[in-house]
Amino acid sequence: MSIDRLVLLDWLLPHYEPGTASIMCLKGKNEGPGWANGEADVARAIKAYRAGALSAEQFASITQDGKQYVIADGTRHGLVPHRDCLVVRFCLAFDDHECDGGNVHLAESVDRFPGAESVKFTRKGGKGLHCYNALAEPMSVEAFVDWARPGVSTSVATSSAFPRCGSGDHCYAYTLGSLDLYLRDYIPGYRGRGPCIVINDIALAEDHADEDLEHRTQSTVIHELGHIVDRPAVYEDRTGVDPMKLKFEYLVVAHITAKPMREEIPRYHGHEAKFIRICLHLCHRAKQLGFDIYHAAVCAGYRNGLLHASQYL
Ligand SMILES: [Zn+2]
Repeated sequence: MSIDRLVLLDWLLPHYEPGTASIMCLKGKNEGPGWANGEADVARAIKAYRAGALSAEQFASITQDGKQYVIADGTRHGLVPHRDCLVVRFCLAFDDHECDGGNVHLAESVDRFPGAESVKFTRKGGKGLHCYNALAEPMSVEAFVDWARPGVSTSVATSSAFPRCGSGDHCYAYTLGSLDLYLRDYIPGYRGRGPCIVINDIALAEDHADEDLEHRTQSTVIHELGHIVDRPAVYEDRTGVDPMKLKFEYLVVAHITAKPMREEIPRYHGHEAKFIRICLHLCHRAKQLGFDIYHAAVCAGYRNGLLHASQYL
């Protein structure tokens, strides 16, 4: 869903801090934020913005070290994304890189992952992208910061091309405990450790009709998510490991994933009862978030030498 800035404002305001908002204005030669304090000033600033008259308003403010100043010639707002210590709606902002055609093409990818049916807002020039997400249940600010900061779960699409690395030619997706470290250089804006999945979007697209592709990709992601939750830790602690060793490990992985699957390993290996139970839980949660996920497409079944997934419910 794409919306304009005023509709976006209506959608965000009930969940954002009513007593604090920044107003971008000229500070010397550069634009910088001034802070409007108090509900009355914030409401006045937002009303003026809606009317296209923000630049005509003035606001008295004070710096953290007590210096008084006036905000004038404002152009736009920065809102604080919580109210009553709860986060409900937040934004993923993608950098608007100069000269590289922008990042609006990422919009579709964002929607291919569970829980990320986002509301999109692009810059006037159509190059920069912001994706706003609504949480199914509000989170406390502390829990949200904890969740967002230390690790980032990442999916890397094969089409984002990593030369000489594992093409994953013979599988639709894979995950490993240190994959985020191996692929660090290919993860845009890498922010720290977290579980990581490689998705062979090229093979998925080749093997499935357009109308099945989204569904098939989502089922594949849930399957790999099952492996992530199934391991002893969502990612492996590699503190102090020599980067050359990590590089070598990934060359081995790249080699293995480029070859056909080994026949002598039964396909249910790693896909047994515990894995199935995890997948059934994940499917249930994905359905609650509105995804059309069918458990039989995710785990168990004759392809893995197992009973139909419904038999395990
Ligand atoms: Zn698997």
